[in-house]
Amino acid sequence: MRLLLVEDEPDLLAGLTRALRKQGYAVDTAADGEEGLYKAGSTDYDAIILDVMLPRLNGWDLLARLRATKATPVLMLTARGGSTDRVRGLDAGADDYLVKPFDPPELFARLRAIIRRSAGRSGTTLDIGDVHIDTVARTVTCAGQRVSLTAYQYVLLEYLALHRGEVVTRAALYEHLGDDTEDTLSNVLDVQVMRLRKKLGQDFIVTRRGEGYCIE
Ligand code: CA
Repeated sequence: MRLLLVEDEPDLLAGLTRALRKQGYAVDTAADGEEGLYKAGSTDYDAIILDVMLPRLNGWDLLARLRATKATPVLMLTARGGSTDRVRGLDAGADDYLVKPFDPPELFARLRAIIRRSAGRSGTTLDIGDVHIDTVARTVTCAGQRVSLTAYQYVLLEYLALHRGEVVTRAALYEHLGDDTEDTLSNVLDVQVMRLRKKLGQDFIVTRRGEGYCIE
């Protein structure tokens, strides 16, 4: 999953980026509203974390302009607890909001929830044959046995599982699983898919030649 974090406080931006990457997300950042709007418009993010008080363009105006073209899930960060601000954020098209200061685990949980909702799912687990994915604990079992995955293998599996039945192109996987800082080599993806198959069964992920990968 690839996120955009728009936040002008350098410490918070750096700390949250680190914490989110540790959770397995690919994270792009923007330190002002104009840069945020540009990035949000030019990449298909799985979710955007958007501070309200930003230089150049505030979070509300950014959101209003983004909503003219894109439905990317947005979690707003507000320093104010006033209900009029919350109402304004939700009316402007925010999917959820969080009042600063907040605990990172609450941010992670709200983020997972808006991403799930945008994928049309309300449950937190995915079951595909013998394979069970717990998206809260980020654990995977196969026929009841715990499967040990690297962070990248987990996000790759989760992304394919969320799009079960669809062919996911390699380009889409690069866009959603990598970020601006990564220089992803094309064979990394093949190697990771091969390792997932070893752990979950050779037929679990199907290769559609020239198109991409699919969990059927
Ligand atoms: Ca701010």
